[in-house]
Amino acid sequence: MDVLVVGGGLSGVAAAVSAAKEGARVTLVERAGFLGGLATGGWVGPILGLTIPSTGEPVIRGFLEELVGRLAAKEGCYSFEECLKRRCVEFNAETLKLVLDELVAEYKIKLYLDTVCIGAVVEDGYLKAVEVYTRAGRSHLKGKVFVDATGDGELIFLSGAECQMGRPEDGRVMAIGSFFRIINVGAVSEEEKKKIREALEEERAAGRISIYHGGIFGRGSFYDTDGYCPNMTRYAGNPVDPDQLTAGEIFLRQQAWKVLKICQKVSPAFQRARLMFAPQIGVRESRRLVGLQELTEKDILSGRKHQEAIARSTYWIDIHCPLGRTKDKVHLCQKGCSTTEPCAMLERYRDRLEERLHPPEGDYYTIPSGCLISASRFNLLAAGRCVSANPKALAAIRVMAPCMAMGQAAGVAAAVACQESKAAKDIPVQKIQQRLKAQGALI
Ligand SMILES: Cc1cc2nc3c(=O)[nH]c(=O)nc-3n(C[C@H](O)[C@H](O)[C@H](O)COP(=O)(O)OP(=O)(O)OC[C@H]3O[C@@H](n4cnc5c(N)ncnc54)[C@H](O)[C@@H]3O)c2cc1C
Repeated sequence: MDVLVVGGGLSGVAAAVSAAKEGARVTLVERAGFLGGLATGGWVGPILGLTIPSTGEPVIRGFLEELVGRLAAKEGCYSFEECLKRRCVEFNAETLKLVLDELVAEYKIKLYLDTVCIGAVVEDGYLKAVEVYTRAGRSHLKGKVFVDATGDGELIFLSGAECQMGRPEDGRVMAIGSFFRIINVGAVSEEEKKKIREALEEERAAGRISIYHGGIFGRGSFYDTDGYCPNMTRYAGNPVDPDQLTAGEIFLRQQAWKVLKICQKVSPAFQRARLMFAPQIGVRESRRLVGLQELTEKDILSGRKHQEAIARSTYWIDIHCPLGRTKDKVHLCQKGCSTTEPCAMLERYRDRLEERLHPPEGDYYTIPSGCLISASRFNLLAAGRCVSANPKALAAIRVMAPCMAMGQAAGVAAAVACQESKAAKDIPVQKIQQRLKAQGALI
């Protein structure tokens, strides 16, 4: 095989399909029994970061547009034009799984589901194979160029490539938060909705529940079904520490049960309501590649256009409080934070916090190719939320539209590196840019 992609989330599928479009023979390894990562397994939605908010002009097309077209054809989302008007893609996670299965089959990608990457064989700075665990035991899968699209930077870590994690001040990453669904809900009046919000806010302010707002009425990645799928719970923990991750899974479920109880106390419409939990915990930030280049908050805030651009986005620096604070209605880590609880960032590093979190009005920024290319492994690229960006910049590019754009670029770069038998760093960026444009991507 030529290109081996580990991780079948949206960035991994984008990478695999885009590499296959360039003629590469592609293998895709995914530990879950389905594709889509957080979009399907974490029930995260809608897809953000694809337009200039003030005008609705798209900054990302390519793989994203193709995916939306296929989803819309199955009534799994609105048309691309309608999504631009809405500034996001609301979708149905089950339809997305179906569309991703079809895409992978159509482009003849060798797919391994229920297969976990557990190691890497490295010789002279080149990855030769990944070690995987399947129901048949351990085995090796070879490749010429490898893409880490695991979100958590698993292959980067396992191959001994340089990686980083957490903010420099205290090593903490953004708070984890899981989506859950409340189904079997009767009709809820506007008055009751208001009362529910107030009751939840009261519990939050008293520190009895770890949610950062009281609005349960979101839809997550179930835009067209009954019930609610909110994004509100919060847990501050290290997602690659087994003990903290286990504690987080349990803690987040407990918060959802508390939410349901409060709703039932306030409104009869919730008496028969039931909870469902997303199969996958919601990790926002984890290991990050040390790449040839690192995206920073300055790039986001200035709307920088790189000569080596391989993707664009408009999403802002959305840092969910890494200390997991909720009591003082804390959402973001920024200079104006009003928490009265102890916070090292405010006490010791306030000068390092941002006042402004958005790119310039009406503008976009770009992501350069060097953010995808490992500085320490010659044939390793990254895509999605484990690319080379500092924590503030990552808080902007981690949303799903730019993840897919980075996936598409990583796939094309991997295919070109294979065809030319070159280290990823030696592929001329103009070649990647030209192929990306031919695939309909905006760069
Ligand atoms: C609570 C929360 C709310 C969010 N809200 C939004 C939102 O509203 N809109 C938005 O656009 N974005 C949102 N995001 C961000 C967004 O969902 C993610 O950053 C994005 O989906 C990441 O995509 P990815 O493909 O890089 O990684 P993932 O979706 O995490 O995919 C990684 C894949 O790799 C697989 N994998 C991991 N390790 C291995 C291994 N060792 N072997 C094999 N496979 C492996 C995983 O099973 C997974 O399928 C949110 C995130 C969270 C957590």
